Amino acid sequence: INETKLYSCVFYSDMERVRMIREKEITNRMQTALENREFVVYLQPKMDIETNTVSGAEALVRWQDPEKGLLQPGEFIPVFEKNGFIVKLDLFVFEEVCRLLRRWIDQGIDPIPISVNLSRVHLKNPDFLDQFRKIYERYQIPPQLLEIELTETVVFENLEFLIHVIEQIHDMGFRCSLDDFGSGYSSLNMLKDVPVDVLKLDRAFFQEKKSNAKRGKCVIENVIELARKLDMDTVSEGVETMHQVEFLREAKCHMVQGYVFSRPITISDFEAFAFSGNSG
Ligand code: C2E
Ligand code: CA
Ligand code: CA
Ligand code: CA
Repeated sequence: INETKLYSCVFYSDMERVRMIREKEITNRMQTALENREFVVYLQPKMDIETNTVSGAEALVRWQDPEKGLLQPGEFIPVFEKNGFIVKLDLFVFEEVCRLLRRWIDQGIDPIPISVNLSRVHLKNPDFLDQFRKIYERYQIPPQLLEIELTETVVFENLEFLIHVIEQIHDMGFRCSLDDFGSGYSSLNMLKDVPVDVLKLDRAFFQEKKSNAKRGKCVIENVIELARKLDMDTVSEGVETMHQVEFLREAKCHMVQGYVFSRPITISDFEAFAFSGNSG
């Protein structure tokens, strides 16, 4: 009766079929990929824009597939969050980060704190933090070098439980950051309950239309000031221009993480970026 409708329906199911095949493929390959060390930790520098030094890094995973090449997290993390494999992958990333920090310490390099992402899937398992504890104790890492990033979507599901998790993260001595703040469901009110150390401003803050520039700036300035009054550091994410950096410096944002300084890079590229000139 309606050719367009029929066509789009077929098209939709084709897309759906391709997606399901791809998902199946990923699920079949993931465990072997982990064993074969196809997952690789990249680091993106966080720049202290007052001193122009690298004051932190975020660990972001990639999948170096021998056939398909380098896959970005958007292609496989949603699948792993569905099938639960993200729990294993996050622990792998955490261990790789601990291993790296241990190597820096052993080499006499002044270590740079690194944050890792924690999927909300972990929160379903009440003793997941023990697994993190075991790993960092094995590598004997000063806990203040480690930071856990939680996304605010987690917050909405169960605030009480989230606060409990943050307290446990603090008990271990790690710092804790609230990721993607301002990307969607953020509520200022939530900040009074969630005792995080760092607020990561989502790049949505910096993607304003020209006509809204003034209002956008006003919002950013005041969020940063609010964070400071609540004793939180601020990291601005997804910053792409020096113009934005200048503005953030005036607004007294502590750190900037974005393409303007560096994309996520391999560990050896990161070492060249962060340590060249000082610790060698
Ligand atoms: P995220 O935690 O919000 O990480 C920041 C993302 O923004 C990264 O994407 C980074 O490459 C990108 N980005 C950084 N600076 C800029 C910029 O200036 N412009 C633009 N357009 N983008 C920028 P990536 O690496 O593709 O990671 C995407 C998401 O995948 C992450 O978002 C995080 O939610 C998830 N993810 C990555 N690694 C892990 C992991 O090991 N565990 C878990 N649970 N999630 C991870
Ligand atoms: Ca993050
Ligand atoms: Ca983020
Ligand atoms: Ca995100």
